[in-house]
Amino acid sequence: MAESAAPLLAALEAIVGAANLLTADADVAPYVTDWRNRYHGRARAVVRPGTTAEVAAIVRCCAEHAVPIVPQGGNTGLCGGATPGAGGHEVVVSLTRLNRVRAVDATNATLTVEAGATLASVQQAAGDAGLLFPLSLAAEGSCAIGGNLATNAGGTAVLRFGNARELVLGLEVVLADGRVWEGLRRLRKDNTGYDLKQLFLGSEGTLGIITAAVLKLFPRPRSSATAFAALATVDGAVALLAVLRQALGDRLTGFELISTECIALTRNKFPALPDPVPGHPWYALVQADDSSADSPLAAQLESALGEAIERGVASDAAVARSEAQAADLWALREHIPEAQRLTGGNIKHDISLPVSAIPAFLAEAQAELDAAFPGMRYVTFGHLGDGNLHYNLSPPAGTTVAAASERADRIVYDLVARFGGSFSAEHGIGQLKRAELTRYKPAVEIELMRQIKRAFDPHGLLNPGKIL
Ligand SMILES: Cc1cc2nc3c(=O)[nH]c(=O)nc-3n(C[C@H](O)[C@H](O)[C@H](O)COP(=O)(O)OP(=O)(O)OC[C@H]3O[C@@H](n4cnc5c(N)ncnc54)[C@H](O)[C@@H]3O)c2cc1C
Repeated sequence: MAESAAPLLAALEAIVGAANLLTADADVAPYVTDWRNRYHGRARAVVRPGTTAEVAAIVRCCAEHAVPIVPQGGNTGLCGGATPGAGGHEVVVSLTRLNRVRAVDATNATLTVEAGATLASVQQAAGDAGLLFPLSLAAEGSCAIGGNLATNAGGTAVLRFGNARELVLGLEVVLADGRVWEGLRRLRKDNTGYDLKQLFLGSEGTLGIITAAVLKLFPRPRSSATAFAALATVDGAVALLAVLRQALGDRLTGFELISTECIALTRNKFPALPDPVPGHPWYALVQADDSSADSPLAAQLESALGEAIERGVASDAAVARSEAQAADLWALREHIPEAQRLTGGNIKHDISLPVSAIPAFLAEAQAELDAAFPGMRYVTFGHLGDGNLHYNLSPPAGTTVAAASERADRIVYDLVARFGGSFSAEHGIGQLKRAELTRYKPAVEIELMRQIKRAFDPHGLLNPGKIL
């Protein structure tokens, strides 16, 4: 192995320089373990290119040596997609040095940015131009825009703006043989055949390495309103969503469901976080934004909530009176995953369903899980406005996560399939959900996916062992 690795490493060093070729175990370690500390891989080396030409040269070099590549952005993915396998044959290509803003076109409302820029820096660049890049998620300080696009990330504003794939006009991609596809178009209309960029979006590094993207920008919100509504049932949450959509139209940007168990768990670990309307089984965190500075948005939200309470749809509500209060409400929501992690193991499900099916799904899932695991605890929250739930389960005392996972997953995912939902709403497949993919996708769909993979990466060098 040492002899065969030497020419490859020398060639990679000639491309990126010694400082950007990492081979010592301690240097490589952060790149071969995933954020959840669930996957521990090995790699021949980590390379850190600074330009698209360097990425292309690395891919050509690896292809010549038949060495597989694992593209990596901020390494915050939740399905092990950016972690190499245990064999130690792969090269991790970390894109974090490829992080420049190439162009801002405020008139065209587009931003051209390189793949390694953090999501927070992309938001900042849009803000500096007086505009908004609306993708937002709790890992935004660490995740990279290339990773966001490669996983088709969701987050908290999908209700209004869609997933990452809906925010892209063009891509630059290094292909499996090292050629560069120059697709950085800035067009909102372009019906010239197959929309190739959509294949790379959500492909988790298995079809090409995204090196830059043209992103859509939007008017920046100048009025915002945030509220916390208390609900007796999930039916109530679904009904409140409909009421608020009617009242606010597309100014409703976020609608997050939070169970009372989530509040208790989160405040237990982070006692400074608020408990705005204590004592109800369910809550909705509601965000509304308007690009007009003198919009009566807060009054309209308050009046719609008041009406919902009068009609018995919601039980109570608190509207944030300051930006600080709004930030505290969002902090409560965003600390749930961390509080869960600190509390101990749980069985995670990132599922989506038609919004209308969510109450019946939750009732049936709980009945089946209670029967299989008496004492199971439910930590349910998520982007209800998009039909996306983080349906996480804490097994009863005496039952480990490892012992309960397989059966609990089957109960949840079979039911999700029966209700016409998805077993992976926004986190992707990676290594974690490959078996679910073949179990729940129609055979013809899997075959088409395999054909696409073969067409883009005939030698299987791009992120092997992921998705398919
Ligand atoms: C606290 C926390 C909150 C989160 N919240 C959300 C959320 O609300 N919504 C959501 O969707 N996700 C969420 N995630 C998951 C994660 O942040 C997203 O999946 C994010 O988009 C991954 O970006 P990354 O740069 O870290 O990608 P990585 O983890 O580095 O990579 C993810 C996948 O993309 C591939 N990849 C990375 N860069 C490229 C590239 N340039 N070209 C080709 N392939 C590439 C990798 O090979 C891998 O398969 C959260 C994660 C954390 C830790």
